[in-house]
Amino acid sequence: MQLSYWELKTWFSNVDFTIVGSGIVGLHCALRVRERFPESKILIIEKGALPQGASTKNAGFACFGSLSEIIDDLKIHTEEEVMQLIQKRWSGLQLLRNRLGDTQIDFRPYGGYELFLENDAAVYEECLGKLPFVNELLRPLFKSDVFSSQPHRFAFGSIRESLIFNPFEAQIDTGNMMQALLKEAVANDIVILNRQTVTAHYEHSDYVEVALDDFSFSTKHLLFATNGFAQQLTANKVKPARAQVMITAPIPDLDIKGTFHLDKGFYYFRNVGNRILLGGGRNLDFKTETTTEFGQTQIIQERLEQLLKEVILPKYDFTIEHRWSGIMGMGSGKVPIIEQISDRTYCGVRLGGMGVAIGSRVGTELADLVN
Ligand SMILES: Cc1cc2nc3c(=O)[nH]c(=O)nc-3n(C[C@H](O)[C@H](O)[C@H](O)COP(=O)(O)OP(=O)(O)OC[C@H]3O[C@@H](n4cnc5c(N)ncnc54)[C@H](O)[C@@H]3O)c2cc1C
Repeated sequence: MQLSYWELKTWFSNVDFTIVGSGIVGLHCALRVRERFPESKILIIEKGALPQGASTKNAGFACFGSLSEIIDDLKIHTEEEVMQLIQKRWSGLQLLRNRLGDTQIDFRPYGGYELFLENDAAVYEECLGKLPFVNELLRPLFKSDVFSSQPHRFAFGSIRESLIFNPFEAQIDTGNMMQALLKEAVANDIVILNRQTVTAHYEHSDYVEVALDDFSFSTKHLLFATNGFAQQLTANKVKPARAQVMITAPIPDLDIKGTFHLDKGFYYFRNVGNRILLGGGRNLDFKTETTTEFGQTQIIQERLEQLLKEVILPKYDFTIEHRWSGIMGMGSGKVPIIEQISDRTYCGVRLGGMGVAIGSRVGTELADLVN
């Protein structure tokens, strides 16, 4: 593309900060940079027409981990690391709520539930056994019990009689949240260029050259918030992880409210008004789902439909109205990578499956790396 003098002068000259990716992390990062450097020129480059990774595709759980996920995390991380992670998710959630307001994001504190399939005896017993220990671990943060075992009152099928309830979990409207963040960015004089992909960057002593598909420009600092697309940037420390989702048409008299976790978080569902949104199933085919390509597969779609029919909505007539997928960034550990890569280049990636909560913190910490 041949740029005009005006285009070069207005958009691509004297750029102080370029942020790659307009997901939750990129937008929070840009807003924090604006707080720290009020006079700076800030540009966000986004390859999609809308943010095109996970932030506009997710299920809208405002969560910090189900009991079985926390128990699993304690097997690979120390207690201190797990506490730090939960603390970051929790404080990230408060930051998100304070920045945008509960009304804008349609924050609904219905609580969260973990369900166990009838054949999940081992996980169920382990959760019940370790519940008091995990509650003690989390007490300094929440000042009361987080998890309790309760007989369930829902018309679910093929699940164990008790479920685990967490009153601190909530749900939000993902679209509203992202739209509010985008508006906030524009109101703070942050320029977002869509449908532009950063294809390479070259660092020099006092600037970084950023290559897009058909032209390049210079920036003083370059910050990557590209999460599931950061495999190359992080030398394989981040792997893409596709997640498939479906939503039903409205179901009259639906009596399900809240966020629900099943099979150690590999499946998750919630009500969206009187619809059910259900996602998950990556564990059926990890290899195929380790991809940056959007799409659906038969094996996962069939399992999701089966769960809707047999477990979640056995007493209701329903139709599936819409299906989609999103791309997450995963790795061997759950701790996000927030790093200075070189003198003028930084990244905040590997958000895993709980970026709604932790994304605002990661974006803020990414911005705070810059001197
Ligand atoms: C289906 C699904 C359900 C989920 N459910 C939940 C949930 O209920 N609760 C929860 O907490 N988390 C959930 N998550 C995870 C959460 O959405 C993510 O952790 C979070 O959105 C990550 O935000 P991000 O800004 O790091 O990444 P992203 O939102 O993926 O943003 C990265 C952006 O970078 C852009 N980009 C990448 N490469 C380039 C490039 N070279 N040039 C320009 N732009 C580029 C991408 O287009 C993308 O918009 C879910 C994720 C998915 C996919």
